Amino acid sequence: MTNAASRLAEVRDTIARACKPVRREASSVTLIAVSKTHGPEAIVPLIDAGQRVFGENRVQEAAAKWPALREAHPGVELHLIGQLQSNKAEEAVALFDCIHSLDRPSVLTALAKAMDKAGRQVPCFVQVNIGDEPQKGGCPIADLPAFLAAVRQTAIPLAGLMCIPPADTEAAPYFAFLAKLAGDNGVTGLSMGMSGDYATAVMLGASHVRVGTALFGAR
Ligand SMILES: *Cc1c(COP(=O)(O)O)cnc(C)c1O
Repeated sequence: MTNAASRLAEVRDTIARACKPVRREASSVTLIAVSKTHGPEAIVPLIDAGQRVFGENRVQEAAAKWPALREAHPGVELHLIGQLQSNKAEEAVALFDCIHSLDRPSVLTALAKAMDKAGRQVPCFVQVNIGDEPQKGGCPIADLPAFLAAVRQTAIPLAGLMCIPPADTEAAPYFAFLAKLAGDNGVTGLSMGMSGDYATAVMLGASHVRVGTALFGAR
């Protein structure tokens, strides 16, 4: 097995083991391989090992790397997991199959317009500022019901809620809180969990985990 294949097997195994006690099917969890900062020489072995869903956090970087990779590897899906500026909405809609960082009215307006223009509806997760951190992106918890109502007035498919818990604290309470917010607001998808905590996120209901370091090594 290649390095990439064995890392992928290990992550998939961790997901399967986390699914067991909560009676979930491993197939209900989408593994997003976060390839930011990594080039084709690191990405292609993972595609060859069977990974199909990738995540990038910058529109510019994805635009430079992925058109050629997608051309060579049809069937690969690309997700935007990092912050989005309104002026990059058109480019994001053209490049990505799913966006995890819809978090404010200006971006909602820009994305709805860009999708209409492109004739392409890209599913979006609403990112929640789950730790109420002033420096972080994400919709404030208090604004979530109104923001979700605004999203539902557009044609944008609502994929679920996404969060990045505060660094250096136990993530589980934040994952549980995001799951509760999703339930309270009638949303099903949950994008949560990174290399350090994706098993916990799966046990708490994650539908999408965003894993970089555990698949690619340190950045
Ligand atoms: C980089 C990144 C990840 C992956 O982080 P790792 O710890 O390397 O797994 C997940 N989500 C977001 C939003 C990121 O920017």
